Amino acid sequence: MSFRFTCKDGRAQLVVGPNNHLVDLEKASGGKFSSEPIDAFHRWDEVRQFAATVTDTGVPCDVNELDAPSPWPTQVFGIGLNYRTHAEESGMPIPTAPLTFTKFSSSVAHGNADVPIYGGSVDWEVELVVVMASGGRDIAKENAWNHVAGICVGQDISDRALQFATTPPQFNLGKSRKNYSPFGPWLVDAQEVPNKDALHMTCTLNGEVVQDTVTDDLIFSVSDIISYLSGIVQLLPGDVIFTGTPGGVGFSRKPPITLKPGDVLVSTLDGIGTTTNTCVQP
Ligand code: ZN
Repeated sequence: MSFRFTCKDGRAQLVVGPNNHLVDLEKASGGKFSSEPIDAFHRWDEVRQFAATVTDTGVPCDVNELDAPSPWPTQVFGIGLNYRTHAEESGMPIPTAPLTFTKFSSSVAHGNADVPIYGGSVDWEVELVVVMASGGRDIAKENAWNHVAGICVGQDISDRALQFATTPPQFNLGKSRKNYSPFGPWLVDAQEVPNKDALHMTCTLNGEVVQDTVTDDLIFSVSDIISYLSGIVQLLPGDVIFTGTPGGVGFSRKPPITLKPGDVLVSTLDGIGTTTNTCVQP
């Protein structure tokens, strides 16, 4: 089975076996690796090699008790309008460069985190999320995946009123409320995902499919995004990139649909993982 990684109680964990048991990286390695998740991203190739030798069957875990796989990233990037279906439903032109915004790191939450509903315009956006391993500057497209630790599924939860509160709009705050950047439940090592540029991704709202795509429909691929961003900013180990959402969000529907307390979002990236987010009163 693929090498999978997550965090619990702030400690780096390997996820092993069909029942998703946890192996504490620091303990299992006899201290070769620290408990700090950021250290694992710095030494991802070594962690992969170590993970292949682990025979520990681990301890059962409750996925609701995990942390985000990268719990305190230095930088969290979001890419807007990165599927043609979403750009068209938004009435926006197809971007000619990755439309990039920030999701502040205090909005990061574990994959199954509850989503507090502030106001009447909170929306869902299922996305393929990548976490960086070695990072760097000026990363070539051809080499970009070698700088990625792993892939998971996430929600770029958006307060549309806040997102479009000013002219011109400024996305950062509307996408950074508490728990508005949930992703998880674990990373799957990018090297071990053969079809990583063409994964089936879905989002359901209260059991009804609202988004359904294959990630080869991205306007800017993961490699394009990493190459573009690293030409401007230094990407750091543990950094997180939300790569964009396909068509089917709530605010483009007629009439629009907004999230309310009690709603349940289930997000799935086939072969990678599934997360469940319940909407709650703040
Ligand atoms: Zn998004």
